[in-house]
Amino acid sequence: MKGQCKLCLKDKTLINSHIISEFFYKSMYDSKHRFFEISTKLNEKNKFMQKGLREYLLCNDCEQQIGRYEKYVNDVFFNKTTNNVIQDDKIIVIKKVDYVLMKLFQLSILWRASISSKEIFRYIELGPHQEIIRKMIYNEKPGKYYEYGCLQIAVIIDDSKLIEGLMLNPEYLRIEGYRLYRFVFGGFIWAYFVSSHNYQYKWKKFFLLENGTLTIHKEKFDDLAFLTNFGIDMKKQGKL
Ligand SMILES: [Zn+2]
Repeated sequence: MKGQCKLCLKDKTLINSHIISEFFYKSMYDSKHRFFEISTKLNEKNKFMQKGLREYLLCNDCEQQIGRYEKYVNDVFFNKTTNNVIQDDKIIVIKKVDYVLMKLFQLSILWRASISSKEIFRYIELGPHQEIIRKMIYNEKPGKYYEYGCLQIAVIIDDSKLIEGLMLNPEYLRIEGYRLYRFVFGGFIWAYFVSSHNYQYKWKKFFLLENGTLTIHKEKFDDLAFLTNFGIDMKKQGKL
């Protein structure tokens, strides 16, 4: 299909590609990930988000560019055993993360969802931030750590297992004056802060840092209540 690539804005042949990276779907079916132990698959009824959503958005070059970020992130979370991980029952800290690749990956998910015409991404409306983020990705300039920072939270069951099959439709929340877009996929909650005063956010040190430190909080999946009440719960725990 011919059309304008949403990233480079050139008229080209467009690729029918995933909006949420393919490996997050794949990881629901195999269990190669040594990093977080065995996955626990949820019942079919709990898989809220439709799998394998594709759309013609990008040309081949731009698809390849984002593919590099995806490959890196897939390795960090699911393939490579690494010595740079410290974790206890509350927190996972990964050091020496490639800030540029990881941050651009995070941004690419948010941005792709925002340009998607799919119904499930209807709440991802970034306004003027959409074009700013497009330029950041296109120019591979990931910005400061607090700019469009993303809090990543691992959804854990039985104390240690990551719930990879959990996918919820993305939502928009407003918490303490911050615009927040919450995605749930790949066993993680990805909470994007999209406000121009992010630098004032008191927990901004939990965003991916420019020194390559990625801090991931663990939250227990007792039921879905903490997800639906995420904002409230996080607030109670003093994280938001
Ligand atoms: Zn392109």
